[in-house]
Amino acid sequence: MRAHPLSDLLENQLAKTNLLGMTRSGMEAYFTDLGVKAFHGRNVLKWIHKHGVTDFDAMSDVPKALRARLRECAEIVIPRIALAQPARDGTIKWLLELADGQRVETVHIPDGARRTLCVSSQVGCALDCSFCSTAQQGFNRNLSSAEIIAQVWLATRELGCPPTNVVMMGMGEPLANLDNVVQAMELMQEDLAYMIAKTRVTISTSGIVPALRRLRELSDVSLAVSLHAPDNALRDQLVPINRKYPLEELIPACREFIQHDRRRKITWEYVMLDGVNDSIAQAKALIRLLQGVPSKVNLIPFNPFPGSTYRSSTAEQIELFRQRLKRAGIMSMTRKTRGDDIDAACGQLVGKVRDRSRRQLRRPQVVQVPRS
Ligand code: SAH
Repeated sequence: MRAHPLSDLLENQLAKTNLLGMTRSGMEAYFTDLGVKAFHGRNVLKWIHKHGVTDFDAMSDVPKALRARLRECAEIVIPRIALAQPARDGTIKWLLELADGQRVETVHIPDGARRTLCVSSQVGCALDCSFCSTAQQGFNRNLSSAEIIAQVWLATRELGCPPTNVVMMGMGEPLANLDNVVQAMELMQEDLAYMIAKTRVTISTSGIVPALRRLRELSDVSLAVSLHAPDNALRDQLVPINRKYPLEELIPACREFIQHDRRRKITWEYVMLDGVNDSIAQAKALIRLLQGVPSKVNLIPFNPFPGSTYRSSTAEQIELFRQRLKRAGIMSMTRKTRGDDIDAACGQLVGKVRDRSRRQLRRPQVVQVPRS
């Protein structure tokens, strides 16, 4: 019996494979399964990512019959840009709407010749770090590899060239979505796609130790770790995942991550919270903690958001802290706050998350503390 034409159509739509997030080997396998030579897969990959083409009919070196076949069984789905917000300093924040209506944010940060794209890995975040506004949104789901690489695809089209650097520092915890993030990072580095050097692709994590060990086997990118405290007692409060993977497990795992290459360093991110983690005693504790680990420390002035109770350390305090690290031989810099007039700075990305973690309900109402 023949089904209703509309349901036929829907079924067809549902069955289509999105090619956007497929790596070179994934494409080769997909095209081989279609019964054609693997090189067609490489050609299509190049059309999608190098030339930004999403219409199979515009792929001139793909045989006509194969194009017709692809129209039936495959698609290239690009999220819609719901909002593009330029900041005064040249930073741009894009709010992307995904197929299910959820929204995530991507930020482009130009700095001279360097053009850094800050990419999201999840809709919201499940980790609940106390100073991060993404955490306040709660968590909905992982992004697919297509939705992750789509952020690079869109930025490349919007800007006319690929970013020079990608940091997985947008919404979400990338190591909680390891497989999809690894696939997307492979595409970032792929010669047939964006050709970004592995040292210019950085994954930032709050420290999910087993996933970090797996990442080491799957991918060789730069590593940034959200440290934020020099001891477990304080880190337990600021970055609650520390209760599961405390510093004595995290630090050796990070050290192992870079041990194959003597030129590599771990970048430690350290948000500067007034009166919380910014004392000279804490700088000394940090120096002891990082002893013998090839390190770079990025001090991040705290970026406030509605409902946040922390205050940023003063510029003077941050500089004192930095000098202390420098004297101990630890390379350290203060991260420039970029795009804060459009809430695009670190920890300010929120998108639109249909929270499934019920965090909003559990969280007590907090009141902003005015700066004295
Ligand atoms: N979940 C990953 C990726 C987020 S990266 C991670 O934790 O590393 C974003 C960086 O900005 C992290 O180092 C995060 O701790 C930091 N951050 C979060 N909220 C912030 C805020 N309000 N001000 C400054 N930095 C913040």
